[in-house]
Amino acid sequence: MGTERTTFSTRRFLVGKAGPFPRLVFREEVMLALDQFSHLHSQGEHGGFLIGRKQDIKSAERYEILVERFVPVPQRSDATRLVIHQDHYRTVELALKKGEEVVGWAHTHPGFGVFLSSFDKAQHQRFFPEPWQIAYVMDTQANERVAYHVRDDEWQRLGGYYVIRDMAPHEVGITSKQRSSPWLRVVVAVLALALLVTGITMGVPVVRDMIRKPEPVTRTLAQSG
Ligand SMILES: [Zn+2]
Repeated sequence: MGTERTTFSTRRFLVGKAGPFPRLVFREEVMLALDQFSHLHSQGEHGGFLIGRKQDIKSAERYEILVERFVPVPQRSDATRLVIHQDHYRTVELALKKGEEVVGWAHTHPGFGVFLSSFDKAQHQRFFPEPWQIAYVMDTQANERVAYHVRDDEWQRLGGYYVIRDMAPHEVGITSKQRSSPWLRVVVAVLALALLVTGITMGVPVVRDMIRKPEPVTRTLAQSG
């Protein structure tokens, strides 16, 4: 029993507009995982299940959909579209933890814009017919991400969504304007990893030098200006 309470405090960032219904909230890690997935699959349509919780709230929005995990559907790398099978759904359902639900699905439209094809719509209505189940489509090449849902047979595009971040105790109270940073963080993480690998292969002093000497870059920029 017990409502879930963590020792972290959390902060929410709104992306787009706050819609009337339903309220959609992604954990920041899920957002990062989705963007990373999207960048790794730059051909055809790929995607997977969104797992999370539907929580009642005391507002006009009635409940919110919290997306906590992304579970990719295994696919051939040259697949042109994401086809979900009953087996995929059942496997995911069996692996759900207590209180978790399949709150929707996400898939990529690399470079061809964000919309739902008639195939996408049929697939959504087959597996995700509840109004609290969403279809999240990403075209990271165009930097577009949109969530849809269907309610009383009517398709709706959500005006926006929230990204929720757990704040470590030392971060609480720091305000940060946060719009483009999820992807930036992936880049930073990749750079950090690259530095680490360089450090391992070339010896730590190189890394130490790279970290210690940012000045030349600044100087070059200043001179060229
Ligand atoms: Zn599609």
